Amino acid sequence: YDDRDGKIWMDGKLVDWRDAQVHVLTHALHYASSVFEGERCYNGKIFRGHDHSERLLKSGRLIDMEIPYTADEIDVAKDAMLKANNWDNAYVRAVAFRGAGEDMGVSSSKNPVRLVVAGWEWGNYYGDAKMSGAKLDISKWKRPSPETIPSEAKAAGLYMICTMSKHAAEAKGCSDAMMFDYRGYVAEATGANIFFVKDGEVHTPLADCFLNGLTRQTVIAMLKDRGVTVHERHIMPEELEGFEQCWLTGTAAEVTPVGQIGDYNFEVGALARDISQAYETMVRS
Ligand code: PMP
Repeated sequence: YDDRDGKIWMDGKLVDWRDAQVHVLTHALHYASSVFEGERCYNGKIFRGHDHSERLLKSGRLIDMEIPYTADEIDVAKDAMLKANNWDNAYVRAVAFRGAGEDMGVSSSKNPVRLVVAGWEWGNYYGDAKMSGAKLDISKWKRPSPETIPSEAKAAGLYMICTMSKHAAEAKGCSDAMMFDYRGYVAEATGANIFFVKDGEVHTPLADCFLNGLTRQTVIAMLKDRGVTVHERHIMPEELEGFEQCWLTGTAAEVTPVGQIGDYNFEVGALARDISQAYETMVRS
């Protein structure tokens, strides 16, 4: 994948895809000193692009890493990268990280903070699950306490347990894993937030120890606009049995209905289908 045509924006300039390399002694590779964004460009416009740039800077600050660009400059970099690749529809990945330098210990105050903006063409994150409902495993790993790690950051270090959870799920024929949090409440999937429906009302975990996704916030606003009651609250594992519908939200996942979590089954019902369709229409308009 590294040897192909295309352009990537690196530290202020566009470079050829195959030349977008970092040194093996890059601090982030050893200590996860990295934050990133996942965004989607639809018909030439990144959905909530500026909010993503702001979130990248916020994630950096949350891990005590000052990114040497403004949100406006990051917006310009993303547009330049998309234009250089001739993409109107693409997934956008911005990543800021501590580079190689004098400091190869845990401390990295002397190493440069670098910024890369790349992208690729990415279709449905869960294949045909938008129609049939995704099948989820239940992970043995828990989302950590905000006293353990800045859990509202989109930081590389938080993804180690997501990759392990997702690999375990895939080995069982599932497309993702649902994770509980450190207290045992329902939290989220490995790269998406989760929603449930019961008796016409929507329930979603309170985002107090995981990423409060931009898609999550957009979908909550869309539901409220339609007059649907949304409860953001702690959800106990026993409640999974009583929920009728379920879906995931995320930039890559968009709104994907869920058919199964472990032994619990959900119907791909009218509200799940409706909100999935409405989201797709909205981001493209
Ligand atoms: N949780 C995790 C762990 C994620 O990786 C993502 C994707 N960024 C989300 C939630 C959803 O966030 P967003 O809607 O902003 O993409």
